[in-house]
Amino acid sequence: MNAVVLLGPPGAGKGTVAEVLVGKGYKHVSTGDLLREQIRQETALGIEAKVLMDQGKFVPDDVVVGMIRELFGAGKPGDKFLFDGFPRTLVQAEKLDELIGSLNGNLDEVVLLECPADAIVERLSGRRSCPECKTVYHVTFNPPKEAGVCDVDGTELIRRDDDNPETIRQRLTVYAEQTAPLITYYEAKDLVHPIDATQSIEQVRAAVLEKLG
Ligand code: ADP
Ligand code: ADP
Repeated sequence: MNAVVLLGPPGAGKGTVAEVLVGKGYKHVSTGDLLREQIRQETALGIEAKVLMDQGKFVPDDVVVGMIRELFGAGKPGDKFLFDGFPRTLVQAEKLDELIGSLNGNLDEVVLLECPADAIVERLSGRRSCPECKTVYHVTFNPPKEAGVCDVDGTELIRRDDDNPETIRQRLTVYAEQTAPLITYYEAKDLVHPIDATQSIEQVRAAVLEKLG
């Protein structure tokens, strides 16, 4: 089992990059998508998580770690996992190391998408996504062929409840406090590969593919 982590602030483009790596044999694991699926199904976990997510706060470590543990339990030896939005705290990073170790797997790379706050606000404010297949669009930077409709499956696109100015600010604060320390954590393991995420979507995808494709 091998794993790659996509690290970077909300809106840096992790999901957008992940879309092209799925075609390269990676299993895309977005804890945000998994949580939104729980919300859609109105499970107890989803109902609890939504309150926190709408405030731009993290759901508890044991909840997300539990989801990853379950996923690994159903995995196969040759799996290549691409983590998007996980880990987000030092506790999660340590748990991930433990889980990978217990499977004799390896964390190969941490791709860090670097993007300043003003670009992030612009990206998240115009983000639209497909609630079915999770494909991500932007009203200006990556619009669908027909406005408001997913190119892949024709589903009506949605704007996420947490992509509003107030919650975006809160998410950026939480990123700086709780997730940014992971850069140092992984630098100490010599795993970090930084990429300038202010480039165009094509350029960022090409830079990541060059590293991982
Ligand atoms: P973005 O990349 O735009 O921040 P995500 O879809 O990755 O969005 O996450 C949306 C929300 O889901 C986060 O703000 C947080 O509330 C919750 N979440 C997702 N992943 C995690 C995680 N690993 N730990 C804690 N909360 C998480
Ligand atoms: P993350 O998963 O890191 O939260 P997304 O992949 O969802 O980020 O991207 C956030 C928004 O920014 C989306 O609307 C996406 O279309 C757009 N986007 C992603 N990468 C770029 C880029 N390099 N340039 C301009 N817009 C981008």
